[in-house]
Amino acid sequence: MTGIDANEQAFGLQGPASSDTRVAGALGLVQAATYAFITNDSSGRITFVNDAAEALFGYGPGAMLGQNIDVVVPERFRASHAAGLARMVRNEPSRMAGRTIEVTARRCDGSEFPAEFTLSIWRDRFGLGFGAIMRDISEWRARDAHLVRLAHHDTLTGLPNRASFEETLDARLVAGQATCVLMLDLDGFKEVNDSCGHGTGDAVLQTLAIRLPAWLGADAILARFGGDEFAVMLPGATDPLKVAAGAAALLEAFAAPFCVLGHTFHLGVSVGGAISPTQGLSAGELVGNADLALFRAKQDGKRVFRLFQPEMRSALLSRLAMQSELRRAVAAGEFVLHYQPQVALENRCINGAEALLRWRHPERGSLYPGAFLPQLEEPPLALEVGRWILDEACRQAAAWRDAGLPIRKMGVNLFTAQVRSGTLTLDVADALQRHRLSPEMLELEITETIFLKVDEPVLRPFRDLHRRGVGISFDDFGTGYASLSSLKRFPLTRLKIDRGFVRDLMTDQHDAAIVRSIIQIGNDIGLDIIAEGIETADQEARLLEMGCKQGQGFLYAKALPAAQFEDLLQGFGPRQKIAS
Ligand code: C2E
Ligand code: CA
Ligand code: CA
Repeated sequence: MTGIDANEQAFGLQGPASSDTRVAGALGLVQAATYAFITNDSSGRITFVNDAAEALFGYGPGAMLGQNIDVVVPERFRASHAAGLARMVRNEPSRMAGRTIEVTARRCDGSEFPAEFTLSIWRDRFGLGFGAIMRDISEWRARDAHLVRLAHHDTLTGLPNRASFEETLDARLVAGQATCVLMLDLDGFKEVNDSCGHGTGDAVLQTLAIRLPAWLGADAILARFGGDEFAVMLPGATDPLKVAAGAAALLEAFAAPFCVLGHTFHLGVSVGGAISPTQGLSAGELVGNADLALFRAKQDGKRVFRLFQPEMRSALLSRLAMQSELRRAVAAGEFVLHYQPQVALENRCINGAEALLRWRHPERGSLYPGAFLPQLEEPPLALEVGRWILDEACRQAAAWRDAGLPIRKMGVNLFTAQVRSGTLTLDVADALQRHRLSPEMLELEITETIFLKVDEPVLRPFRDLHRRGVGISFDDFGTGYASLSSLKRFPLTRLKIDRGFVRDLMTDQHDAAIVRSIIQIGNDIGLDIIAEGIETADQEARLLEMGCKQGQGFLYAKALPAAQFEDLLQGFGPRQKIAS
């Protein structure tokens, strides 16, 4: 029996007095149904209800009969309900008859619930009859609401998700309401996940979703776009100064550490912003431009705010072009290593080499790292090229050793990405083994950017390598902020005095004093010292006098292609002195 059949048969009954057995059977069926059946006459008087209806509306047996159908209609809808009934009584076409719609119904106690409702109308010997089949759909509604929530909210934090954020943003923009978008990306979140697992990472994000709103204005909208990426909408904020103040508040929100599941994390955030309408007319454009600004904030050392500027887009495009060019160059084998001699200052005998990267560009000729290093330092490329440099330098050192040439140390510069890769120890061990090079012949050069973030994941590979006898030198020493205590914590073998100090050694008293103290500290804590960028014999003499024993610089030789470096070694014989 279809719903409509049941409907019509049931509503064909006008009271329980019928003797028709077919109808009596139908009555039983209707009484047993889970759907609520309820009929009324043209005056609105309820003429029939089944048990399910009484249960649904909360009335006792028979209590609904004779009452006005209004009792199941919430008060605010009663007038339009009465008007609809009157229209049907006047035989005007009904918009509701035969259709299943959703309505709000009222229980005996006045409470309301969503109901599915199908109306039938008929005319029989008693006149016009109306009947409804209804059921409670609160559960469906709740489920729908949940689904809508899922579609609009991030399940982890309960914040609006990207789709919902952009929808709201678009609506504002279409309405001509100025707004600003800030894109946020956490600094240091990956380390939380890596060291403590995703469960802890999730808890940090949840904590953040609670903490951030307190730092934002009441009308700001915070959303999570995924991962550790968040977005903030600041309605009405069009003054760059106000926007910067909003961003500063967000940066400030990260000053206090995050204490989660027994761990304490010091996180930071980078923020990029874009303001409508000048920096974007649609949600996509505004978010995209704020993203570009975020990208710049990350490049500028993180934990800063940058507002979108049009040149950011062209900078990104040229950067992307450069990266694909670099990828091509890697595949085409266009990178080569040049070698700069390292000498004993007292006799200018070569005792080592530093491998320096050059790009043999098919059109632009030999390029120095300054022209391409920033683009190369991104992880996948840096790892690939870094591994190649390590391998090639080890191969060359072994080849010179096998040829009986007096090279005792090969210096190799590392990219930050290599240090953070987790495979550094393995990569180095592999290269040494492949070329049967003793660990003492290799010296890894690390700069302060690596040093400043001395934490366990960084220290571990260096401790391993140091234990195996690999040399580790601190490059460009003295230029940054590395503390003396970090010198003690880090497993070092040598300090390289930055060429900046050597350059002004003869003219700048301060630089001279710095160089003298570096040499002193190195000697005191048992580290070798080498000075970079020696260009004149005066500088050499001064360094010697200060107690520095090794050096490197144009005074001796520039970085040379392998063949020329070899000539240099051979031409002057074992441990030969280089003429100035
Ligand atoms: P760095 O490690 O400090 O390398 C020394 C730089 O000083 C080299 O520049 C070298 O050519 C230059 N130099 C040497 N002697 C003198 C001198 O007497 N006077 C002057 N003015 N300069 C001198 P280069 O080859 O252009 O490399 C620049 C930087 O690029 C390097 O600085 C290093 O940080 C990076 N780099 C070079 N090759 C590699 C590499 O294979 N891997 C990594 N990760 N970085 C590299
Ligand atoms: Ca170096
Ligand atoms: Ca250096």
